[in-house]
Amino acid sequence: TTAVDRLTKLLATLGMQAGMNVDTPLSNWVGGELAPGQGERIELLDPVTGLALIEYRDAGAERVASAVEAATLAQQEWMSLTASERGRRMTTAAWALRGHEETLAQLESVVAGKPIRDCRGEVNKVREMFEYYAGWCDKQHGDVIPVPTSHLNYVRHVPYGVVGQITPWNAPMFTCAWQLAPAIAAGNGVVLKPSEMTPFSSVAIAMLLERSGLPKGLINIVNGVGPTTGAALTGHDGISKLVFVGSPESGRRIAQAGAERLVPSVLELGGKSANIVFDDARLDDAVAGAQAAIFAAAGQSCVAGSRLLVQREVFEVVCERLARAASEIRVGLPSDEATQMGPIQNAKQYRHITAMIDTARQHGARLLCGGQRPADLPADAEGYFLAPTVLADVTEEMAIAREEVFGPVVVVMPFDSEEDAVRLANATRFGLAGAVWTQDPARAHRVAARLRAGTVWINSYKAINVMSPFGGFGDSGFGRSSGLEGLKEYTVAQSVWVETAPTASVAMGYGSGA
Ligand code: NAD
Repeated sequence: TTAVDRLTKLLATLGMQAGMNVDTPLSNWVGGELAPGQGERIELLDPVTGLALIEYRDAGAERVASAVEAATLAQQEWMSLTASERGRRMTTAAWALRGHEETLAQLESVVAGKPIRDCRGEVNKVREMFEYYAGWCDKQHGDVIPVPTSHLNYVRHVPYGVVGQITPWNAPMFTCAWQLAPAIAAGNGVVLKPSEMTPFSSVAIAMLLERSGLPKGLINIVNGVGPTTGAALTGHDGISKLVFVGSPESGRRIAQAGAERLVPSVLELGGKSANIVFDDARLDDAVAGAQAAIFAAAGQSCVAGSRLLVQREVFEVVCERLARAASEIRVGLPSDEATQMGPIQNAKQYRHITAMIDTARQHGARLLCGGQRPADLPADAEGYFLAPTVLADVTEEMAIAREEVFGPVVVVMPFDSEEDAVRLANATRFGLAGAVWTQDPARAHRVAARLRAGTVWINSYKAINVMSPFGGFGDSGFGRSSGLEGLKEYTVAQSVWVETAPTASVAMGYGSGA
């Protein structure tokens, strides 16, 4: 069967496809109903073949407005429930995904071009994120502040109201659940716009969750491109907070749109994360870690370990072992159970990656492996496949050492001392993640503390969990997601003062009273 057939069948299974033309994909979930888009056509290509996959219509400003209206009403209904009841309903919603896991994984795999094994893992994460945040619903409470006046002062953590969220194409279901779960656990309604490249899985998740007992309209998904649907969302007066996951370029625009209306934002942006290998590291582990760090999800991961910094004494041996490990990765069809790395998701990204490799080579970078299409792909796999690529002889000035590639490309650079390693690791505007490989525990912690990165791993790479805060420094963004920190981004503190003196007089001026 072709990808078109598989996608049509999957959408039909979920009730999201009413026929076979541009007007039939029900690409939005608004007010508890599936709805088609109303704007321009958006065409998706199959990442495997590069051929037409499906067309749908941009949601447009009117759909966004209906979504904000629905979320506003549903949020009031949501907050009229007790906190425990909200927790129970979220738990039930999370469980409602059971039985649909395979459909969701297949849907993600076909559209995003990700290996089916990875997609199954991501569906489990989606459920875990809702389960985790469901537990927070009745555990959020404020403090009583011992103010030195005749007042009782207490703090409440109140939801913003309706939150606008925008997500990218690299892990659509994961990022959707990652932001939806804390938003509703904190008592907000949500309008989320996924990437126009991967519209359907977020709709499916929202629909399955909401149908299992969340107020109709609490979660709304609108699909379309940034300048139309995205801008309508970020510019809507009914949105009180913006949460964005994507590139620094778009992030800047989201923050500007927020600034225009004085709406705060959380930005989860890109990275150029350093993976530092000292000469006393267990090299087998470090090489395996470096391989997973960059080639998982074909490098289309914000935390990808795209700079491998290796102490000079072990530089050549690490290069050699990594190149060998990279060339053994099974690149293939996302639907194949054995595939470890699939294609790049879209043509634009593929051109960006290959152009960056070409420029680096023109400036003297040495290709240790990859850099081209893998040799042994099936005949019709003419889409955006790229072999795992390792580059050495890269200098700090080269774009490939500084800019995000967002593909299966790692640069390996030598360093001489601990000081040198830290300087090199921090020589980027990004600050998302990093890792240190060494058997010297004191050095591991010393270096970790000096890295300007929101997440640091020691003798590991890529462990992440919804319980632990995640986010960036610098061009990697601001604000935190996951854990309690992530939940707090979705509430605002309200301070309440109660006069407790029998004969109170109203204080005048900032200096009086306290
Ligand atoms: P992108 O910035 O091109 O698009 C992200 C989203 O923003 C899409 O939904 C897009 O339609 C929307 N958008 C673009 N312009 C807009 C505008 N003017 N108004 C409103 N919305 C607009 O990013 P991408 O190519 O989809 O994703 C790749 C990027 O995402 C990489 O830089 C990657 O590192 C980053 N990312 C970061 C994290 C993280 O947690 N830090 C996670 C995943 C991906």
